Amino acid sequence: MCLISELRQQFPILTSKNEDPFIYLDSGATSQKPRQVIEAIDSFYREQNANVHRGLHTLSAEATSAFELAREKIANFLNVQSKEIVWTAGATDSINIIANGIKAQLKQGDVICVSALEHHANIVPWQELCKQKGCILKVLPITKSGILDIKSSVELIFEQKPKIVAISHASNALGNIQPVEKIIEVAHEVEATTVVDGAQAFMHLRPDLRKLNCDFYVFSAHKALGPTGLGVLYGKYDLLNALNPLRFGGEMIKEVSFEQTSFQDAPSKFEAGTPNISGVIGFSAALDFLNSINHNDLLKYEKTLYHYLLTQLNGINGIIIYGDTENNIGTVSFRYKNEHHFDLATLLNGYGIAIRSGHHCTQPLMKSLGIDGTIRVSLAFYNNRDDIDAFIHALKESIDLLE
Ligand code: PLP
Repeated sequence: MCLISELRQQFPILTSKNEDPFIYLDSGATSQKPRQVIEAIDSFYREQNANVHRGLHTLSAEATSAFELAREKIANFLNVQSKEIVWTAGATDSINIIANGIKAQLKQGDVICVSALEHHANIVPWQELCKQKGCILKVLPITKSGILDIKSSVELIFEQKPKIVAISHASNALGNIQPVEKIIEVAHEVEATTVVDGAQAFMHLRPDLRKLNCDFYVFSAHKALGPTGLGVLYGKYDLLNALNPLRFGGEMIKEVSFEQTSFQDAPSKFEAGTPNISGVIGFSAALDFLNSINHNDLLKYEKTLYHYLLTQLNGINGIIIYGDTENNIGTVSFRYKNEHHFDLATLLNGYGIAIRSGHHCTQPLMKSLGIDGTIRVSLAFYNNRDDIDAFIHALKESIDLLE
């Protein structure tokens, strides 16, 4: 596809390592960054660097408008209001902000549901909250092949009437796109607050959050062409504003005295201190980049590439693939017979193949699949068939070395 080869040219890291083989198949860990994002950050520091929301001077005013324009951009992208967008340090930070902020609304014995497929970032903050408030964590079950057991999950939600249902839009370990629409609908029937971890899904699926109707949605910019250290927390405004802030200090206050301090409304009350301004500017360029590409074309391309990868892998005897390969963001998790994933990953690295091996921060999921880890290949639109061919060639040779 001509468009893809042109897009790929925009990613310096994919084109600058021509002498050494370098095949990047680890976009689930972090995406690569297009030139436009790198240049936006560079030019911010060269030409526009100032603190936001503070100075009257021109540079500060310019930095503030660029910063707030980015909030509008992401709000438009998600089809929500800009006051419903909080800049955070990442998906993990966003979930911690929600879990901490909602604490006061919970009481002992309240139930919080997460799915068995969750990343630790969408388990541990809820577990800690349960410890602090005496709440009970319940797990929406999965089938043996690693797909959310929708029937049992719905039954569990109706039976337990949780206060919070927190579920990933797509599994980071397996790539499964979760039936979040159904879970949100059922959760709302029992008046639960719904939290969707979109860390993996955001870039691939570009969700319309008004349509999705979740109460909160979180993700990290670095998995969507943007810089590290920046995340987004979306919340329906009244629910967002009802959360208590996690961090206190400058910017988030209305008035301070030694006797008493009052806070701003959302989103400011969650953005204490100097924010990640250059990160926001970089992410703004990432959104422009994504907006410039037809989403349906990309989805079609990613799907074709993913099926090519699956076909190639299925052609190798002894490969066991986990998860739902029908509804998937383009991630394949597999093992080869009883070989340790670490050994294969190390051999593949020798061929310049960047993949991830291990439990992928989903130890409970691995346990329920009866394994200690997998090899994960996670694709993005800047990958091509040559990447997959190089990977399959290296995999076959690595397997020969192990046998
Ligand atoms: N949730 C999911 C599904 C993820 O894949 C990740 C990261 O891999 C996270 C949450 C945490 O993201 P971050 O480390 O950027 O905060």
